[in-house]
Amino acid sequence: SAEASLPKDENREGFKGHDMLAPFTAGWQSTDLHPLVIERSEGSYVYDINGKKYLDSLAGLWCTALGGNEPRLVEAATAQLKKLPFYHSFWNRTTKPSLDLARDLLDLFTAKKMAKAFFVNSGSEANDTQVKLVWYYNNALGRPNKKKFIARAKSYHGSTLISASLSGLPALHQKFDLPAPFVLHTDCPHYWRFHLPGETEEEFSTRLAKNLEELILKEGPETIAAFIAEPVMGAGGVIPPPATYFDKIQAVVKKYDILFIADEVICAFGRLGSMFGCDKYNIKPDMVSLAKALSSAYMPIGAVLVSPEVSDVIHSQSNKLGTFSHGFTYSGHPVSCAVAIEAIKIYKERNMVEKVRSISPKFQDGLKAFSDSPIVGEIRGTGLILGTEFTDNKSPNDPFPPEWGVGAYFGAQCEKNGMLVRVSGDNIMMSPPFIMTPEEVDELIRIYGIALKETE
Ligand code: PLP
Repeated sequence: SAEASLPKDENREGFKGHDMLAPFTAGWQSTDLHPLVIERSEGSYVYDINGKKYLDSLAGLWCTALGGNEPRLVEAATAQLKKLPFYHSFWNRTTKPSLDLARDLLDLFTAKKMAKAFFVNSGSEANDTQVKLVWYYNNALGRPNKKKFIARAKSYHGSTLISASLSGLPALHQKFDLPAPFVLHTDCPHYWRFHLPGETEEEFSTRLAKNLEELILKEGPETIAAFIAEPVMGAGGVIPPPATYFDKIQAVVKKYDILFIADEVICAFGRLGSMFGCDKYNIKPDMVSLAKALSSAYMPIGAVLVSPEVSDVIHSQSNKLGTFSHGFTYSGHPVSCAVAIEAIKIYKERNMVEKVRSISPKFQDGLKAFSDSPIVGEIRGTGLILGTEFTDNKSPNDPFPPEWGVGAYFGAQCEKNGMLVRVSGDNIMMSPPFIMTPEEVDELIRIYGIALKETE
């Protein structure tokens, strides 16, 4: 077999090309790809098909919060598969796991009371659903022109047509005729990169809130339906909000009767050292998007939570508007829901928020100690999420020439030394599983240090 002929010491060389049109992969048109093929996982580690072991510093794609082999999740999936592998939730038919998970989520989210949960299969579908719900809501209220969305530069909200439009990353728009015209983008709240000389974090936040207000007034508040934000920006480079940012942004949004959607797809369930990002930053959203750690990624599932104010309008007007004709075959898939119920049980039983809080200073301080490196512009993060940005002269304005491939080189050194990181240009991102031990954090820091030295 192809596998048997692979060399044991070179983890990539023996595997050339494949038949997939691979997501977010450069050069999929060529047959010259050398993919890293992951075969199994254990705790905070994954193993490739040659048996080489890697510390998984990104928890898959910011999602396997409980690591690689949590037996309770496997048992929950198996038991549900044996009992009822599938039934849908259309036309007032549903399954017990989806009803139970909805209740669990509404109880768990306390930053603001939520009234309803809608199930989807991914973060992208969650954000698509948000847009349709918001449009339905404004149609119900007789406000057909209040339809535009404001998102932020460098945000990531998914890659379907609508969620890619909401995202503020040019690569998701170029060559796809996006963003859709109903989406506007406001400032990225990255203090280090965008603050003016002498401007404090608070002043920076004030300026960004003022810019948001100016954008709303320019477009006409009667045309702006919702604002969407990740509590900590993830794929855009791990950007925690500057001081007072969300207080000021929420005040503006509220003033113009604009709904606030919290995209908690990465931040929820403990990653920031709080159950939700909204708890940490005192965000009172009207709607919430969830996915990833919701099931610790053992099964695909996402959810949209909707406040009573929004759901009341939808319910009271639904006679006028008819059925909410939106949903997916796998909305509330019983196996995914059973796994998510068990994941939430584990987060609570093991007090995962406290666990993240107790280990995150070691992770954050250990990595931020490399901030003096001559190739590091900024290392930033909170809880168990961290970004490193490589720049010259420690300046946000002096990027390395892209052809030097500094980030890619660092990523390759990590991989060589047994750790997987996310590389995006000269940004490196990490969001390890919540279950990391102190020894594993030490190992992560050690490999990061080796890769950094080799890159310098
Ligand atoms: N929203 C955020 C904040 C994300 O980070 C992601 C994925 O990384 C998504 C939405 C999209 O989720 P999915 O890839 O499950 O569609």
